Amino acid sequence: MMGWKLVTNKKSPLTYMTEIPSEFDSPTYRDVLSQFDAAAEWFCLDPNIRKRLRLPQRALCVTMPIRMDNGDVHVFQGFRGQHDTSLGPTKGGIRYHPDVNLGEVAALAMNMTWKCSLAGLPYGGAKGGIRCNPKNMSRRELQRLTRRYTAEIFPLIGPDHDIPAPDVGTDEHVMAWIMDTYSQQRGYAVPGVVTGKPICIGGSLGREEATGRGVVYVALEAMKHLGIKIDGTTAVVQGFGNVGSISARFLSEAGIKVIGVSDSTCGIYNSNGLNIPDVIAYKKAKHTLDGFPDGEIITNEELLELECTVVIPAALSGQIKEDNAHRLKCRMVVEGANNPTTKEGDGILKDRGIYVIPDILANSGGVIVSYFEWVQDLQKYFWKEKEINEKLHDIIITAFNRVLRFSLSENIDMRMASMAIAIRRLADAHLARGLYP
Ligand code: GLU
Repeated sequence: MMGWKLVTNKKSPLTYMTEIPSEFDSPTYRDVLSQFDAAAEWFCLDPNIRKRLRLPQRALCVTMPIRMDNGDVHVFQGFRGQHDTSLGPTKGGIRYHPDVNLGEVAALAMNMTWKCSLAGLPYGGAKGGIRCNPKNMSRRELQRLTRRYTAEIFPLIGPDHDIPAPDVGTDEHVMAWIMDTYSQQRGYAVPGVVTGKPICIGGSLGREEATGRGVVYVALEAMKHLGIKIDGTTAVVQGFGNVGSISARFLSEAGIKVIGVSDSTCGIYNSNGLNIPDVIAYKKAKHTLDGFPDGEIITNEELLELECTVVIPAALSGQIKEDNAHRLKCRMVVEGANNPTTKEGDGILKDRGIYVIPDILANSGGVIVSYFEWVQDLQKYFWKEKEINEKLHDIIITAFNRVLRFSLSENIDMRMASMAIAIRRLADAHLARGLYP
């Protein structure tokens, strides 16, 4: 290891600019950066590396004129940010949401760098997105938009370069259109350009469930550490997309009573426990949780404040914040979404002794199985589901226990311990590679 070692509990000799270039300034960027700065300060990260890692390596803004079904042309804005390429290609999802902006994408790309590093994957972080409302668009419009976006970001992506995956508002169909558009340009099938695609074109068994499965593996391991028995444990899940619905399913299969879940329209609550397979079937049929017969309707705010053992925020950023963090009545928060807790919210949870498993650890199951999918695509050799789930369990639980040991030995919380371990790996890579030119 070259010229860099972990130095703990010393005051950094330098004070840092806290400014964020206006291009990237956004609430999410400020939250993600404050976590990085706190960890960098704590272990006196080399100041030059710190300056570098505070910013994305590349960020691209694109605009896309799309013919809508009614004949009008609408011009959409899209983004792709790549945070760091020192460990390998960049990796991260693509989100379709009305609030997507460059600052959010750049922040979430940084978050992906820490997530991949913590899991020991050979990737840096990336994130992309299009400002649109996929719920109000037809499948044909979404397909045209996805193909044009792929054409616009074509110079940035590829199996050795940057590998997108699903995120908020995107799914395996979107990945199939990206894979097809990219492959048409190359002239041959390139399955390794995206992960989270359908099995029939090189997707991996277990990828769809991977994030929720990982969330529950980590939650169960944390309960073991805290001495919480499954019997009598209750959980609340905010968000009923891929991560939320699958986490709820695995929690209930593990014997945990899921008393509340929500989607963007409302929450539902049943103190005796919701029948999760029924809730999933209802949501699939009606596209909303509203009207689910076997639960009381509550708001998303009320949901987070229910008395329970575990809260899993699995929706959007910034849900646990200054206004509501002091009202949470749970023992643990397991972050299924990216950046669901603001800096202020995190401080309040910490002061109140609520145990938080940070996003870069808790929701890393998705990118871990994306890595397996990419490896299978490159090798053209596909694995059995059992093998995939076992390997996922091994990587995520090893990471959890490493973070736990570090947090106990240094008397720091799980977020700081996760960040310190993740950043250290990046710092080693930067120092080993040196500066170009
Ligand atoms: N969008 C997911 C995340 O934020 C998965 C990324 C991936 O599989 O590349 O972790």
